[in-house]
Amino acid sequence: MADCRRVLRESGGEISFRVGRVVFGSEKPVIIAGPCSVESREMIVEAALAIKRILVERLGFENVVLRGGVWKPRTSPYSFQGHGVKALEWLREAGDKAGLPVATEVMDPRYVGVAAEYADILWVGARNMQNTPLLHELARAGKPVLLKRHFGATIGEWLCSAEYLLAGGLEEVALVERGTRGLNEYARFSLDITVVPIVKRLSRLPVLVDVSHPAGRRDIVPDLAAAALAAGADGLMVEVHPDPDKALSDSKQQLTIGMFEEMTGRLRRLGFI
Ligand code: PEP
Ligand code: MN
Repeated sequence: MADCRRVLRESGGEISFRVGRVVFGSEKPVIIAGPCSVESREMIVEAALAIKRILVERLGFENVVLRGGVWKPRTSPYSFQGHGVKALEWLREAGDKAGLPVATEVMDPRYVGVAAEYADILWVGARNMQNTPLLHELARAGKPVLLKRHFGATIGEWLCSAEYLLAGGLEEVALVERGTRGLNEYARFSLDITVVPIVKRLSRLPVLVDVSHPAGRRDIVPDLAAAALAAGADGLMVEVHPDPDKALSDSKQQLTIGMFEEMTGRLRRLGFI
């Protein structure tokens, strides 16, 4: 493995960090839920209030973050690319209304500053895992960062990308597995669950699992969520949309509010949340 000394276990204790009431890397997993894209003020407020009602009010579970993309890394240039800065305002407003911290993806180093003004947590999407100018800028911004694994990256490459953040002085970093290219043509990616116990042994960082993007289909998302937490993940990222069939991105994989409620009920019964 290339030199990623600060990320490795040998170099120090386990990293955990707090964002408001939410703690990454504690006994309790973090649930990062919300739509793929922030499509309008109304939809993100509706999603935020539903997530709060289901987890915070009904289950008394407070380790919850609202997610929503505003700059979307789409395969086709003709697909919806996100609403940009105005959607950041909607995301912030929704988070404040629901009392939840908010997370969004940044792709362009030039937008780190504005994203950091509005969001509590920034994430690096799979496609940008090795965008080193972006990693440098994020380390400078000082907001907590979630680093997704590229779908073709080894564990060593992933950890070394995290090293850029730690080497730049940022310790509030968590890793997110989101599936790699595989042979299973019935799912969008292959969820590499093996990295959860392995990277937890190797590194100091919390390891979360995005259960929506590997699935590509909403029916199997709850099963992947149970599997990820059973494997010891420090949290989940999951896409939830008030009306997924009409979503402007990733419509097949986003959970309905009802499915999200069912899934979290099951995770509670299993003793995971
Ligand atoms: C997302 O979380 O919306 C996303 C685009 O994920 P990934 O970067 O893992 O594909
Ligand atoms: Mn998505």
